[in-house]
Amino acid sequence: NFPKLFQPIKLGTMEVPNRFVVPAMGTNLANPDGTISEDLIAYWETRAKGGWGLLTVEVTAVDSLGKAIPNQPGLWDDQFIEGFSNLAKAVKKHDAKIAVQLHHAGRQTTSTTIGDQPVAPSPLKCPICNEIPRELSREEIYALIDSYATAAYRAKMAGIDAVEIHGAHGYLIAQFMSPHSNKRVDEFGGTFENRMRFPKEIAKNIRRKVGSGFPVIFRLSADERVADGLTVQESRAAAKIMEQAGVDAIHVSKGVYETMQYIVAPSDVGPGYILPDAGEIKKSTNLPVIGVGRINTPYMADDAITRNQADLLSWGRQSLTDPELPNKLASGKTDEVAPCIACNQGCIGYIFDPDKLQISCLVNPFCGSEREMEINNAPEQKHVVIIGAGPGGLKAAWILAERGHQVTVFESRSKPGGQMELGAFPPGRQEITKFINYYWHMALKNGVTFRFNTEATVQDIVDENPDSIILATGGKPLIPENISGINQEHVVTALDILMGKITPESRVLIIGGGLIGSETADFLAMKGHKVTLCEQEAEIATDIHEAVKYFLIQRLHENQVDIKTGTKIIEIQKDKVIASINGERHELSGHETIVLAAGTVSNNQLGPELSNKVNNIHVIGDASDPRKAIDAIEEGARVALNI
Ligand code: SF4
Repeated sequence: NFPKLFQPIKLGTMEVPNRFVVPAMGTNLANPDGTISEDLIAYWETRAKGGWGLLTVEVTAVDSLGKAIPNQPGLWDDQFIEGFSNLAKAVKKHDAKIAVQLHHAGRQTTSTTIGDQPVAPSPLKCPICNEIPRELSREEIYALIDSYATAAYRAKMAGIDAVEIHGAHGYLIAQFMSPHSNKRVDEFGGTFENRMRFPKEIAKNIRRKVGSGFPVIFRLSADERVADGLTVQESRAAAKIMEQAGVDAIHVSKGVYETMQYIVAPSDVGPGYILPDAGEIKKSTNLPVIGVGRINTPYMADDAITRNQADLLSWGRQSLTDPELPNKLASGKTDEVAPCIACNQGCIGYIFDPDKLQISCLVNPFCGSEREMEINNAPEQKHVVIIGAGPGGLKAAWILAERGHQVTVFESRSKPGGQMELGAFPPGRQEITKFINYYWHMALKNGVTFRFNTEATVQDIVDENPDSIILATGGKPLIPENISGINQEHVVTALDILMGKITPESRVLIIGGGLIGSETADFLAMKGHKVTLCEQEAEIATDIHEAVKYFLIQRLHENQVDIKTGTKIIEIQKDKVIASINGERHELSGHETIVLAAGTVSNNQLGPELSNKVNNIHVIGDASDPRKAIDAIEEGARVALNI
């Protein structure tokens, strides 16, 4: 059972019980004033119980002007010590070690978030946050060096085991280290030694303040992937400098906000993609190295230790998907480990979504809601019939069965997954099948009965004599009837293409540049079709997270997909399409197949008829109202917890 992963290891004076690390990831679960909330304690305690050796509390602001997200923990004042103390106590009940990541966003924040102009080494606009920061004065820099040390001291006072200095991902310290963002001409800019002065002085100052018996970790982006950014070669020297400055471990990440696709890489980027960088850093330092970057199997983690690329492994998003991963591996339940599919929808996507603003996970809807959502045994066993084995229906089935209910699922297709399974066909999306299979496996393991190839009728359902029914019949493609000529033979749906029902001719025009249209364009272009992608709005793929979108757009360009934004289709004729492009009439010709990807409408034919015959009907997911899979899954889970 992966003995290398369960070996204790020392970081400075701290013994970590195993090699499983939860890295710092923004959750937005702290209170708006920066104090630790009960939700955040529940989030971390769940992971401590799950067997993780080292937990790293997210981006904790050392200064109120350094917040990157609204509900971020802080340690810029003594008032924060009590909350961290409660958090430390909760985690330590389960033998885990807890570190706090000390953070300042620098220019990677907005004036809306901090209520003031962001600050940075140089007044260079962050291309993502889009604001020009104020250049820090020398006095302010020295004051910040003190702020890091005072924050570390407060963490120690609270009973936290260690601190991690966040020198990665383009935040303030990285902004000083990188010539990409540091154009200063004083002792903090110019030469490599000068650019390293800020992190070096922070580490030395922390050490002075907390003494020798308190571990300090340094996190850096070994390769920033931007022009003039830090490269692995320079980062090797940086690690050496930080070792001499007194840190106890190096945590090796990659990328800055502009290259977010390397911080939270989508499934287009292979698992373990930062481990080679960690291996390079390891060659230049005697300190333990923590590796990160789509570590999602114990085999890979074990291999990274064997190859001497890392001593501990951070399973960032994987720890959201499965907080019990180490315990499951230790007890041989490898088949029960929930896979992270690198979709970025719930984790990074929700953090910055103004309608959500707190962490979640597509595969694990309990993530971020640990206090509120808990699986308890049902007070009495009921028979629940679910129509539809899409992700929402599957999740509901599994939870209901785990709670002790008797569950039957009807599915018209021969296998589970619904439209989500079709989403696995476009390039880079194959990991979707892993989570569908996982849900199915867990449902079966808990005793759910599946009736595939069965189009359930009202009578079938009534004959089951159910106590409750969940209608998870999904959606169907929206046919935009206002487009003249829409019902011709050469007009098909994206679903027809992805299901393999129709093989289009070589030249294809797609109507709709959202997620489905863009991914269908990607799918067809990779197969050699000549594709024109038409979208009414000014941009395509607006419903996809930036990091995922990056590689998709890159491939669309590489495969010469003709992207036409601001394009409204008016009429489809046999040999051409009439469109209004930015208000001007155009004729688009030469496409043998027209593909509709204009959206989804609910598919809930059973609902109205059933409502007269049975009680306790719950309509979830697209069947209720078209929505993202992550929302349908959460809805399935919540319904299942309340039956
Ligand atoms: Fe992984 Fe997607 Fe969950 Fe994020 S939302 S942790 S990427 S499965």
